[in-house]
Amino acid sequence: MSNQSAPETSPAPAEAIPDCPRCLKPLPLCICDSITPIDSRISLLILQHPQEQDRALGTARLTALHFKDAVLKIGLSWPSLSKALGRQVSDPSRWAVLYLGSAKVADLETDRDIVAINRKGEIEDNQRAILKDIEGIVLSTGPGARPRRCGDAMPGC
Ligand SMILES: [Zn+2]
Repeated sequence: MSNQSAPETSPAPAEAIPDCPRCLKPLPLCICDSITPIDSRISLLILQHPQEQDRALGTARLTALHFKDAVLKIGLSWPSLSKALGRQVSDPSRWAVLYLGSAKVADLETDRDIVAINRKGEIEDNQRAILKDIEGIVLSTGPGARPRRCGDAMPGC
């Protein structure tokens, strides 16, 4: 037993923790393997404010990983929905913007959990047809990217 070599516990250099290429989190925090993307009929476009790039949480990126057809874009403005999405959108009117703003559902004559409202915050006619025809949803994060400013950020949404 004279050949006892030192145990191979070479200390890992502290700064050499690699990031996961998918979620960009440090690998010890990565949960990509546990994510099963949802095969949703509706596409998802997540617009992330540049100042919201929290590396530790990465909530927007993680959200995108949960859907098979989701695109995450970081920036302040895009010339069009197609440009933001990186593919041609034949009918931007079939894209809805997730709005959690000041329109009060109690003021609208509806008992639905999700309602389609127009730019003025008024309830749309033909709720069923509109919601059924939705092709994609735009979701924005961050203080500067609220749907109130969506018209600036992206004409047509
Ligand atoms: Zn990951």
